[in-house]
Amino acid sequence: MTSLISISSLTSDAACFEQVRSLRWPNGVICPHCGSQETIRRGKNDTQQERQRYQCKDCQKRFDDLTGTVFEGHHQPLKVWVLCLYLMSLNLSNQQIARELGLNKDDIQAMTEQLRRGVEKKNASKPVWEC
Ligand SMILES: [Zn+2]
Repeated sequence: MTSLISISSLTSDAACFEQVRSLRWPNGVICPHCGSQETIRRGKNDTQQERQRYQCKDCQKRFDDLTGTVFEGHHQPLKVWVLCLYLMSLNLSNQQIARELGLNKDDIQAMTEQLRRGVEKKNASKPVWEC
C-alpha cells in the first residue's frame, strides 16, 4: 500500500518549480515574449521563494517560471498541479486523482485537460478579449 501523503510531503516547492522548468524549458530558459535564449536571472519572487524571475536580453521584458503557463494565476497551488501530473503518469482516472488530492472531480478534469494540451498556454486558445 503506497501512501500518497508521503509523496505530498516530499514534494517541496523547490522540486515543484524545478519540475515546471524542466517541463517547459528542457533545453534552457526561453523568453516567452520573443523566444530568445539570451536571458538573465533577476532574483526570486517576493512571496514564492523558489519562483525564479528572469529578464530577456533581447526584448528586455521580464518573466518568471510560471509566466505563460497554465499554472499562472490558477487558484490551485503549484504543488497540486505537480502531484496531479504525477498521478496522471500513473494512469489514474480523474476520479482517483480527485480522491487522492481531496479535490472536486470537475476541477481535476479541467486540470488534466489543460495538462494534456501542454503546460504552455497556446496563443490560439486565448480568448479574443485578451489580445
Ligand atoms: Zn524576449
